Amino acid sequence: MIRSTKLSLKFANRGKRDLLNNFIGKYQLAVQEYIDLIWDMEKVPSLLPKTLTDKCSVLLTARAKQAAAKQAAAIVKGTKSKQSKRLFMINKLIKENKLDEAKRLQDFYNKVKISKPNVSSLNLLLDSRFVKFNEETESSFDSWITLGSCGFGKIDLPVKKTKHFNRLNAKGKLLGSVYLSSDYITLCFEVEKPINNNTKTVGIDIGCNKVISCSNGFQTVPNKHGYDLNKIIDLLKKKKPGSKQYRKVLRHKKNFINETINQLDLSDVKVLQLEKIINLKRGRKHLGKLNSWTYRDIFSKLEGKCEELNVSINRVNPAYTSKRCFLCGYVHKDNRRGEEFKCVGCGYTAHADLNAAMNISLTLPELNFGEVSTDTPFYWLVGEQESIVPANKKYILKKSSRLFVTI
Ligand SMILES: [Zn+2]
Repeated sequence: MIRSTKLSLKFANRGKRDLLNNFIGKYQLAVQEYIDLIWDMEKVPSLLPKTLTDKCSVLLTARAKQAAAKQAAAIVKGTKSKQSKRLFMINKLIKENKLDEAKRLQDFYNKVKISKPNVSSLNLLLDSRFVKFNEETESSFDSWITLGSCGFGKIDLPVKKTKHFNRLNAKGKLLGSVYLSSDYITLCFEVEKPINNNTKTVGIDIGCNKVISCSNGFQTVPNKHGYDLNKIIDLLKKKKPGSKQYRKVLRHKKNFINETINQLDLSDVKVLQLEKIINLKRGRKHLGKLNSWTYRDIFSKLEGKCEELNVSINRVNPAYTSKRCFLCGYVHKDNRRGEEFKCVGCGYTAHADLNAAMNISLTLPELNFGEVSTDTPFYWLVGEQESIVPANKKYILKKSSRLFVTI
């Protein structure tokens, strides 16, 4: 698997930063020119012929032009494939008579078609012919990045290695290609997946009060300054979007999410079960203040951790997992009151998210929603095990028929 890490370029002096920015600006201009040249082509080749690369008017080395042309071709191909998917969706929506949605997508399609991809914030994709990473150095900086073939001789940029870099460097092989922006260089490593001989399955509930509740008992706690995700999101709402303060709180939020997921111990886990969120935008009630972007941040960090440890992710249907008693299987809408779970059947109490996580960790038989109503309490059990709670109206889920029968 490929893992990447960013190193800051802020330690380079002004002169070097200027040269770097100059190169990046020219390279982006070249990419834009190539995009303009090939945008209307029926079939875009991955490698543009020399007759085409020579047409670029920007003053760049031939090698840099080649790289820019290659990146432009990849961008155009990627955008076109997304456009053809949009076209397919538009036709599908029209067939389904969802004309409003079709119109919205069509407008977006037209906009992309006319405006073409914007490359002003493009990260340059450069191979080993442009960039050398030198670890051995006598200076106070950890390492140097040497950028060549850029038309300005060799530019040496000092960088400090981060903990993340050191971790990847210890177990992986540094690859030649990098992504370069005026502030960061992103280095990629080929890392072998570890062998996972564990057998344990855990469930995870993602929420706002507790970012992570895991069936192994782990729950997110506020950081040493007393902040939890809830408070951070409240703080974010008070800031003006796009302002310096806003960005600072966004970083704070990201760090908080990363910290909590770093604390989660998955060293004995084989499978991690998570709720399957079908429509993120519509969300679900108990996501609360968590918007879809924050949810995605949490999920992608978790996914990265699982990939690193070779833990597989299994998504399960979340319906009723927050209302089901983990101990006895009784599902009742009154079982949950805010953060507290108290089973009205057997009296079992737990933190609501922890109870949900434990339900998610089980492989419960799938519910047939035509047969289930939220108003009717029922027992939802694994297989056909006997329930421990007496009730005069008792439902047991038949795994084979997926129907509820009254006993
Ligand atoms: Zn119970």
